[in-house]
Amino acid sequence: MTARFTGKVVLITGGGSGIGRAAALAFAGEGATVVVAGRNAEPLAETVKLIEAEGGRADAVTADVSSSPDVARLVATTVERHGGLHIAFNNAGVLETGPLADMDEAAWDRLISVNLTGVFLSMKHQIAHMRDNGGGVIINTASNLGAHMRLPYLGAYAASKAAVSALSRAAARECIGQGIRVNAISPGPVDTAMSLRPGETEDARAERMKDAVPIGRVGTLAEAASAVIWLASPEAGFTVGHDLVIDGGASA
Ligand code: NAD
Repeated sequence: MTARFTGKVVLITGGGSGIGRAAALAFAGEGATVVVAGRNAEPLAETVKLIEAEGGRADAVTADVSSSPDVARLVATTVERHGGLHIAFNNAGVLETGPLADMDEAAWDRLISVNLTGVFLSMKHQIAHMRDNGGGVIINTASNLGAHMRLPYLGAYAASKAAVSALSRAAARECIGQGIRVNAISPGPVDTAMSLRPGETEDARAERMKDAVPIGRVGTLAEAASAVIWLASPEAGFTVGHDLVIDGGASA
């Protein structure tokens, strides 16, 4: 395998599970030093263990992306411990579903504070470092449920993710002159707990996906991670302000 990210320091929020962990393993497999961040130490430590078991380099920092002091500390710690920050994958997110008329304001606030404010705060602190240190690459996780398609009972989530798409594209225009390349990914249903309905088995989800997605299945973690890796790679050097849909045709 090529090692396109040797010497690069990659910061991944939501790195203790799902797409974040898959991307962490993929970056480490191509030579990067990966810092995984999230609220709980235990799943982050597990990601570090998995990477180290394959001979990679990784570190974990607990941080809540909806807290500006936490995110400032996360970026500062990454730079102090590893000598820089070259690539950021702002991927932490939560899902709240339900009819808008029944959604309480606390659930709305939780969704916006993690999915949208979390990406804003992450970019704010990352850009401040990258613009003074030779540039970098930022990739934010939006969703196909947002700028690309909408469904009932997912309005608040869609609003938060459409805003991530818009923020990413605006940031791309703003930052490319400073050597910072910003893009987003918009996954459809991927094989993580988030694409399971409450109480749904994986078999039941597989049945549902036959109709819900033209390709007839959920996306794999490898398919999601490889899109992130490509956007971060030199091969995507001319790709700026793109929102890459990975959804098996759901929003086509
Ligand atoms: P996941 O639940 O495994 O990952 C989300 C991660 O974010 C978790 O590790 C969680 O601990 C972390 N997180 C949540 N709140 C946080 C906070 N305040 N601070 C720091 N970390 C926090 O699910 P996933 O599917 O891997 O989701 C990753 C991203 O992909 C999310 O942004 C999600 O909205 C998006 N997404 C997922 C799907 C899907 O079907 N799985 C589809 C489209 C978009």
